[in-house]
Amino acid sequence: MQTADRAARVLELLRLRYPTRDTHLVARNAWELLVATVLAAQCTDVRVNQVTPGLFRRWPGPAELARATQEELEEVIRSTGFYHNKATNLLGAARRVTEAHGGEVPRTMAELVQLPGVARKTANVVLWGAYGINEGIAVDTHVKRISFRMGFTESTDPVRIERDLMALFPRDAWGDVNHMLVWFGRHVCDARAPRCGECEMIEVCPRHGVGEKPGAAARAPAKAPAKSRRGGKP
Ligand code: SF4
Repeated sequence: MQTADRAARVLELLRLRYPTRDTHLVARNAWELLVATVLAAQCTDVRVNQVTPGLFRRWPGPAELARATQEELEEVIRSTGFYHNKATNLLGAARRVTEAHGGEVPRTMAELVQLPGVARKTANVVLWGAYGINEGIAVDTHVKRISFRMGFTESTDPVRIERDLMALFPRDAWGDVNHMLVWFGRHVCDARAPRCGECEMIEVCPRHGVGEKPGAAARAPAKAPAKSRRGGKP
């Protein structure tokens, strides 16, 4: 089967498994999604979702956060790790959004990546998650790992991986692809112990870099955990 055909089948199977667009990070608008995504670097979504409600109660938007001190913000986000850099970036982003964009998170990749702490991955998450704009495919650790295992890329460079994936999947699916692969990486294609014996992708997945192919008897499709279908966190 050609790579493009395998990609089409993978997209079909992912949509069967994840029929809804339940998000990983809790956010009510573009600013909250941007802040949550910055905080999620090297941190679990569960932890971020514990921290952000208090943060947004104290500083509801970029204008309020822009007036916070470095020390105040560091104290609130400390448990997410790398809090000094994250605080510096978030304060910088809050000031720029307030001063250069009238308090509204910009809607273009070019403007977003000018914000401190916002690279292409975060910008893709915000554009799709907040505005429904498919500008690219956010490549995080799950997308990177699964794309390689599935034979969709030979690269380890996120920019090249994104380019390879954009060539394989239709544009209107780019946001979904990131979103679904993140869930899939957590539920099935685990970094250390991929559940190939229960994976519905087994017939189209070359399993690059993974061990021996599991026996046919163990190939029944795995069901998505009930929680994920309802939008619960993993
Ligand atoms: S068959 Fe294995 S390596 Fe391939 S997607 Fe499924 S769990 Fe991942």
